[in-house]
Formats: sequence, structure tokens, C-alpha cells
Amino acid sequence: MGIIVQKYGGTSLAGSERIKKVASRIVTTKKQGHNVVAVVSAVGDTTDNLLKQAHEIAPAPPKRELDMLLATGEQIAISLLAIAISELGCEAISFTGAQVGIVTDTAYTKARIVSVRVQRVINEINKGKIVIVAGFQGATKNNDITTLGRGGSDMTAVALAAELNADICQIYTDVEGVYTADPRLEPKARKLEVVSYEEMLELAATGANVLQLRSVEYGRNHHVLIEVRSSFSDTPGTLIKEDVQVMEKAIISGVTCEKEEAKITIFGVPDRPGIAVKVFKALADEGVNVDMILQNVSDKGITDITFTAPRRDLPICRRVVDGVVDELKARGKSYDEEIAKVSLVGAGMKSHPGIAAHMFEILSDNGINIEMISTSSIKVSCVIREKDVVSAVQAIHRGFELDKEPIK
Ligand code: ASP
Ligand code: MG
Repeated sequence: MGIIVQKYGGTSLAGSERIKKVASRIVTTKKQGHNVVAVVSAVGDTTDNLLKQAHEIAPAPPKRELDMLLATGEQIAISLLAIAISELGCEAISFTGAQVGIVTDTAYTKARIVSVRVQRVINEINKGKIVIVAGFQGATKNNDITTLGRGGSDMTAVALAAELNADICQIYTDVEGVYTADPRLEPKARKLEVVSYEEMLELAATGANVLQLRSVEYGRNHHVLIEVRSSFSDTPGTLIKEDVQVMEKAIISGVTCEKEEAKITIFGVPDRPGIAVKVFKALADEGVNVDMILQNVSDKGITDITFTAPRRDLPICRRVVDGVVDELKARGKSYDEEIAKVSLVGAGMKSHPGIAAHMFEILSDNGINIEMISTSSIKVSCVIREKDVVSAVQAIHRGFELDKEPIK
């Protein structure tokens, strides 16, 4: 009998009725002849509320204690779900991350999994039980509780699926799959049948909020077949897997955007070795995830450096950049919080020239100014004004006819 890992997000479990529905879906899967390991997130807004309370008490709570606190959310969810399953007459057993042997490093609040020991899960499966595991958490070698970064239950599910050699890792959420655009921004967005790991990585990295980025990376590295689908319907979702031929025909898989970004410029820095490292090493040491970086052609030995970073990290960026500007006697600096990034992702870009040009043309036809551009082999991203972001997503979606099924 094969194993199916099913992950249920917080919205899918918000309220007793939904918990009962999830329980019955799990029991149905079990009765269809599969072993089920269910990974759950904290119910509803639990994690946000716990974080909020911690920050009411202290502006920068100790990270170890934050993890101790946040991990409780998932612990509530696993027990409630196990209770709901027993009520349906099936045997279930719930485990915390530490109990199933999810061992992580000590990077509290964004720990990385170092090993997964699944023997306990296998023992319970062999007894015919449904195993429920708390997502988003693990423990260090010394048994201190850690969490895996926001959205980390996806990571738990994918890691368990990899280690258990599961047939599939199903991610149940409140949308029916991965779309060509966020359906809340573009009502004509179309659900994708299948997306390659590479494309999903770019989609997740550029603002598609369906899967945690790290979980996609892990899935790719361990060849885990992932399906994103809705817990509110029985419609098949989107499969994420190795590149397949069908996909080579769909040039573009989707358009994404990110609003919570900031743009920082340092004007007039000396154009000599060691400057970029000074700025970006300092930011990296502070844990800032710098996104795009642009350095101008230098003029008379001085140049400008512009970069983008998550808006929430702006206070750190200000501190670091203010220091660098003083130290290097740079001409000035600017901080811009009103930007957004719109990205176009598709594996077909590799073999189809002109995609970027077409995207720029669409933006220009709509009077949208491009402030920065960055590309990978399967992605083009543009920084634009935040106020333009919805019309940019819609215009690009329309311009590339993403609402239409690709010809197969
Ligand atoms: N409950 C955690 C969060 O809200 C983990 C998750 O939802 O996957 O980030
Ligand atoms: Mg959540």
C-alpha cells in the first residue's frame, strides 16, 4: 500500500466544521486503500495572532522563545484533527515535529531541516493508523523547538513525502491550484494542469503565494511529486514535477507580483573593488534577502548602486546603508517604499526570443514605467510603481493571452 502525504493549511482547518471535513477527507483517502500521513498548519490566524502578542510584549522577542510559542499553533491543530478522525471510527495518532524526528539546525524562526527520521511514522502506519504531524516545526539536536519559516508546513509535508517515498504530496489549500495569475487580481486567471519545479521555484520566488519557496526547492532536489489542490472541492489541482514535454509548448506559465518591496539607491560611490561586497555583506550579515541589484556604468570613477529588498527590512537597510554612505563618503542615498515587482515566468522563454521585449511593450503601451529589470533563463522581472501593479498584471495576462489554454 502506497503512502500519500496530505498537507492542510490553516484556512482549511478554521473552525470545527472544517476540521471535521478534513478528517473525513483523510478517512476517505485511507478507505480508498492508501496510507495517509497528514501534515497540518495552525488553525486560521493562530500564527499571526501569536506573533502579534509576542510583539506587543517586546519589539524584538528572543527567537528561541518565538519558536517555542509559534510551534504551539500546530500542536493544537494536530490534536483536534486526531480527535476528529477518531470520532469517525478510524485510528489516528498525532505527533509534533520533534516527536517524528524532524531535526533542524539552530537558526530559530527559519531553521533548515538536517535530517528526518521517519521510523516512528512507519511503525504507526504499519499498525494501520493515520499519522498526523505538526507542520512548520522541528527540533535541534539538543531538543530545542524550532520553526521552519512562515508557510513552513509545506516544507514539513514535502520532507516527509521525500523520506517516506510517498506516491504524492498533496498540498490542500483554499485555492484550486497554481494559476496563471493571482485570481484576486486577474479574474480571468487560468488554473495550470502541470508546472515544472523550475517554473514553480520562480513563481514562488516572485510572489505566487501558493507554496513555500524552500519546499519547492526540497521537492525538486528529492523528486517529490507535489499537487496543489483545494480542500473545499474535489477538483484535481496543479501537479508540480519534473519538466515534461507537454509543458515545452506552453511558453509562459504565469505572471506574478510582489508589493512589499523597497528600492534603495546609493549615489556616487567609488568604482573600485570591494565596494559591492562592503554593502551586500553587511546586509547579508543582518539577514536581509536582497533581491535585484543594479550597478550603473561608472562615470569619472564613481557609480550608483541600486537594490531592492523586502519592505519590512527597510529599517535594517537604512542602518546599514547610512553607515556605508558615511564611511565611503558617497554622494547620497534614497529609499523608495512605493515600488512593486511584476514578473513573467515560463520555461518556454529559453527557446522563444522576444518574450522580454513583448512584456516591455505591453507595459509601455499601458503607460507603465519600468525602473529596474532582472532576468533569469525562465523569468523576466520589472520594478514599477506600486500603484501600477494590478493594471500591469492584468495587461501582461491579456497581452500574452494567458487566459487561453495553450495548444498541445
Ligand atoms: N502556521 C505557520 C504560518 O502561518 C506555518 C504554515 O502555515 O505553513 O506560517
Ligand atoms: Mg499559515
